[in-house]
Amino acid sequence: MEIVFLGTAAFEGYPNPFCNGEHCLSAISSSKNIDKRLRSAVLIDNRVLIDFGPDIVASSQKLGLNLSKVELLLITHSHEDHLYIPNFAMRQRAFNNKFDELIDMTVMASDDVMKKIIESEYSVDAKLILKPVAPFKTYEFGEYEITPVPANHYVGENEKGLLYLIQKDSKTLFYATDTGPFDNLYAENLKNKVNLNKIDLLILDATLGFTQSEYLGHNTYESFLQTLSILKTHDLLDDSSTIVAHHFSHHHNPNFHELQELYSRENILVSYDGMKIKV
Ligand SMILES: [Zn+2]
Ligand SMILES: [Zn+2]
Repeated sequence: MEIVFLGTAAFEGYPNPFCNGEHCLSAISSSKNIDKRLRSAVLIDNRVLIDFGPDIVASSQKLGLNLSKVELLLITHSHEDHLYIPNFAMRQRAFNNKFDELIDMTVMASDDVMKKIIESEYSVDAKLILKPVAPFKTYEFGEYEITPVPANHYVGENEKGLLYLIQKDSKTLFYATDTGPFDNLYAENLKNKVNLNKIDLLILDATLGFTQSEYLGHNTYESFLQTLSILKTHDLLDDSSTIVAHHFSHHHNPNFHELQELYSRENILVSYDGMKIKV
């Protein structure tokens, strides 16, 4: 699988254009693109897109990507940085000059997210195949196996966020944002309910970075490392696994090069917009 990061920021983008904090001012005045982050999404093999936030247009323009070959869209949850429903209109006849040639796009999301998509006029006649999915069940899609698993992330009364395990050619990618720390029970569930052996590429929430936070819906640097240690204890990660920190908030995370300096001490990569990884 080849993964391209379309965006790597948390909810407000990095820099947040309304913020005069040190990190945002330094990012906006930086001459380097690597210091500027759009809202998080990744593209796999040009065919599978994870999340559909408000920066999909900006990120695909910036990276020179055409998304018309995307056959599968996975939605983690309905927070606005991950799902901007009007995006579906770009697939409707009125907005698409090659509508007749446009291939269907399957959308996988939880029941509650799917309800929001179905209720919207933007999803009508957009060549969508809507497939509600449940955690710990595996769905085949061409040569991919897709297994949603629960996120440790509050979304709303009725909605539980999802993370996705994506398997192809006996490699496993675990896309794990937005989420807080995993505990031993979580790792046991990955082993027992999903039969997971090893994660080859882990893309893990690092939103809260270098802060002391009691909030459990995202990872701090400390809880990021604790999560890795739990997954290692259960043999779900080993020295050959690639680990990427992802989904950065401007509050608690310095610029790319400082982050890279801190995470590289633990052999962890730091995501940036446009980053490509093969697994
Ligand atoms: Zn988010
Ligand atoms: Zn969220």
